Amino acid sequence: MSVNLNRLVGRIAIVTASTDGIGFAIAQRLAREGAKVIVSSRKEKNVAEATKKLTSEGLNVSGLVCHVGKKEDRQKLFEEAKKLGGLDILVSNAAVNPEVGFVLDCPESSWDKIFDTNVKASFMLAKEALPLLRESKAGRIIFVSSIAGFQPFSLLGAYSVSKTSLLGLVKAAAVQLAPENITVNSICPGIIETKFSNFLTKDEGAKEAGLSQIPMGRFGKPHDVSGSAAFLASDDGSYVTGENIVVAGGMQSRL
Ligand code: NAP
Repeated sequence: MSVNLNRLVGRIAIVTASTDGIGFAIAQRLAREGAKVIVSSRKEKNVAEATKKLTSEGLNVSGLVCHVGKKEDRQKLFEEAKKLGGLDILVSNAAVNPEVGFVLDCPESSWDKIFDTNVKASFMLAKEALPLLRESKAGRIIFVSSIAGFQPFSLLGAYSVSKTSLLGLVKAAAVQLAPENITVNSICPGIIETKFSNFLTKDEGAKEAGLSQIPMGRFGKPHDVSGSAAFLASDDGSYVTGENIVVAGGMQSRL
């Protein structure tokens, strides 16, 4: 997909979990619109491959290993941003789902892992990014939540609740930061074809059930989501805050 916008020239962005899937597409889109982007994920090899792919497209991208649950890794992201000149855009995209099952069947250890990665790390990243975002003229925090945060998937019980928590974090943090002109929003993808959703999009039975919930009749692609991130990050999104934007082909999305 070609993009002819230069809305993010001069902006610096961190995108977590951005070596594959939705995070990669967001990093690529922000960079294509002119931002300097720091990509990251847990595995060195994935970081090297993603960085190479993006820089070979002529994009201004640097890569770092960052497990979002590790404070020292998160600090490295902010150090890199400082080296590049500051931070304008934080996209908190990492999530895990170690458990398939009903919410109250979730073992405590999996619940803790889900909430540590999906909720606490997003909260910590936002908190730790603030000193740099406060120096920006256009500070943006974008969380990646999920349609499951609105309408829980019954077999992704705990994961769905973690994504609902992010909807609340957006509302609370947006009000706190609005006077400082820093916007806080989330994007809530529907079912998007990535490794994460293989079990929904590749298994024949699950696929049919999933598609029946999507009025547009198709699963999304990562690039269906990335444009919304670029919009929120840009000046076009400067008066949008506290919103949880659903990008889900018409799937039901009410709390
Ligand atoms: P994906 O294609 O499986 O990609 C996952 C990425 O996250 C990889 O780059 C992986 O790289 C990295 N990662 C995983 N755990 C990490 C951690 N603890 N710290 C840092 N990086 C980590 O996943 P995706 O489908 O794009 O999902 C991205 C986000 O979209 C998640 O928040 C997910 O909940 C949300 N979402 C996805 C869908 C969907 O249908 N796909 C729908 C709604 C919401 P490494 O292995 O190198 O760490």
